[in-house]
Amino acid sequence: MKKILIGTHNQGKYREIAYLISNKYKKISPISLKIHSPKETGKTFAKNSELKAKFFSKFVDIPVISDDSGLCIKALNNSPGIYSARLAKKKGSFTKAMKFILKKLEKVKDRSAFFICSLSFKFPKGKLVTVEGKIRGSISKKIVGKNGFGYDPIFIPKKRKKTFGQMAKLKKIKMDHRFIAFKKLRKKIKIL
Ligand code: IMP
Repeated sequence: MKKILIGTHNQGKYREIAYLISNKYKKISPISLKIHSPKETGKTFAKNSELKAKFFSKFVDIPVISDDSGLCIKALNNSPGIYSARLAKKKGSFTKAMKFILKKLEKVKDRSAFFICSLSFKFPKGKLVTVEGKIRGSISKKIVGKNGFGYDPIFIPKKRKKTFGQMAKLKKIKMDHRFIAFKKLRKKIKIL
């Protein structure tokens, strides 16, 4: 059976990416191989997803897929952006980070935001392909929903009423920024 390394330590992302990749592949986690994560030194989502794919690729002889993603809020100059995971770390948890965001938006009318995902695929000792997916929406007034991960309970996709956190898992997986990026990637490399 063909193998692929899903280059992330984030369980939420891992589950989503693993679901999207064909069952022809045995999906491997860097955690099971005891490979740590690289430092995210890039200034853009693309730089960071490429840096991760190249890093994990050094440890294995199979294809690697990695993403860098985050939540960009218009009223906050598109932050937390590439610092989405780091904001939660700094605040102590995702709940605390979401409360921090909601407080900042307390008197803000335009709550528009988007999730973005840069997805990189690295062939063993071969080329690197990177694509991007984006989903637009807005920030809810409260933290709602227990599904998903990260900032899911405060993001309402455009034309919907529920947050990602309230949606059935598969519904979210089949519409989000990672899914949009994955469809582009599949078109480009045709082996997933
Ligand atoms: P990084 O790509 O490892 O820097 O982490 C991105 C961070 O963005 C994650 O830890 C989540 O907090 C957030 N994020 C990315 N995608 C999603 C999503 O689909 N739902 C909720 N939060 C997300």
